[in-house]
Parts: sequence; C-alpha cells; structure tokens
Amino acid sequence: MPNESLEDLFAHNRAWSAQMERDRPGFFTSLVKQQTPKYMWIGCSDSRVPANQITGLEPGEVFVHRNVANIVVHSDLNALSAIQFAVEHLKVEHIMVVGHYGCAGVKAALSGARIGLADNWIRHIQDVRDRHIAMLESLPEEVRVDALCELNVAEQVVNVAVSTVMVDAWSRGQKVRIHGWSFGVHDGLLQDLQMSVDGSKPLDAIYKAAVQRIRYKWSKPGEALTIVPRSKAEGSPSQPASLDGATRPASPAV
Ligand SMILES: [Zn+2]
Repeated sequence: MPNESLEDLFAHNRAWSAQMERDRPGFFTSLVKQQTPKYMWIGCSDSRVPANQITGLEPGEVFVHRNVANIVVHSDLNALSAIQFAVEHLKVEHIMVVGHYGCAGVKAALSGARIGLADNWIRHIQDVRDRHIAMLESLPEEVRVDALCELNVAEQVVNVAVSTVMVDAWSRGQKVRIHGWSFGVHDGLLQDLQMSVDGSKPLDAIYKAAVQRIRYKWSKPGEALTIVPRSKAEGSPSQPASLDGATRPASPAV
C-alpha cells in the first residue's frame, strides 16, 4: 500500500484493536498483566520478514530481536541483553535465529560492496564468508548469497550457544533450545536448517553437520562434494584458513 499516510496507519491500528477486542474480549487486558512467550526470534530487520505474521503468532507469543542480517556479536550488549531477558525472565523454550534468502546485508558482505557505517557491522558476515570461502567458491555463483545466508545462520546459532547467558542457563538445567531457520521472501516459507542446540550434545559436531548439509544442498545435483584439504586452504592471505568452518565453535561442548 504505497500511498498510505501516517493517519492511515493509526486508522488501521484502531480498526485492528477494535476487531481484536470484538473477537477476543479481554485480550489486551490479559496482555497488560504479563507476557509469557515460549519463543524468541532473532531475525533480520528487513521489513519483509515480520516474525509474528510469518509464524501466525499473536502479540505476547514471541519475543523479538532484529538487526541487519540477524547477527549475534559476542559483545553486543543489545542482543545479549535481549537474550538474557528472554531466557532468564521470560523463560522462553526456543530461540530461533532466522535468516532470509536474498538478504541485502549478506549480499553486501559477499561482494564486498561499501554501504557506509554498516560496513563495520557487515564485516562480521565477511568473517563468515572468509571462513567458508573454499565452499562458497565451489558453488555456482548464483546460489552463493543464499548459501552464505544459511552459513550466517549456522554461525549465529553458535554465537548464541556460546554466550554466557546460554552456558549459564544450561548449566543450571534450564530447558531452552536454539534453532537455525531461513525464510524465503519469494515464497513466504520458513526452512528449518536442522541445526538445533540444547546444550546436551557437542556443539562442534552439530555445527559441522549443519555446514555439510548447507554445502550439499547448494552443490550442483549429482556433483561430488569437494573437500578442500586444510593444507591447501591455509597459508594464503587471500584464502583464509578454512575447512568450511570445521574449527568454528569456541567451546567444545555446551
Ligand atoms: Zn536481511
């Protein structure tokens, strides 16, 4: 609706509020008392990826943190504070890290395009790109952005898992599971990257399996998987040390 004015947004809001109250009398009154979401969504700020609408969840059902390209940086107090609040106070049971295909931030990272201040933020995805450069270069050029979107999700799942918030939560026996998903703007569908972490299994193995699945998925059908020997991948400044992230996790098991 390109011609909508701000007044229209308020009109839509009033209509939505009235409709909700007609359909579910007392809905907002109950929301005031407490939010008890089971889910935390860590996604991209992209306007085409709205957490509630995609998942059919209502207000109060999903706690959301979004930033450019769904990145969880070890020292990002914004993301870490949101995760801590979700885990320790709201007691969410699932944290979904959700990327999306065609992500502009990932595209810029892959191509090295300069955007501005965001270059420094996107640099984190370039680190992911460089870690998996051998795999990415082995894939058809047209799928590399989407493959990197998925690799970025896998990396951010690890970053959440090794955070002090999650390490502490699991050490006290709290049940909370982290998932890696990706969303298709082109079809509106979520893909489960089958990378779920609950603190009971070695993170390293889960991460490696996810990376291998991504590699397999985006390789040409029928083409044998090419593993670049570590000795070949290492040692060149232009080709960062990499066996497609085989050594990525910072902790052996969480
Ligand atoms: Zn994006």
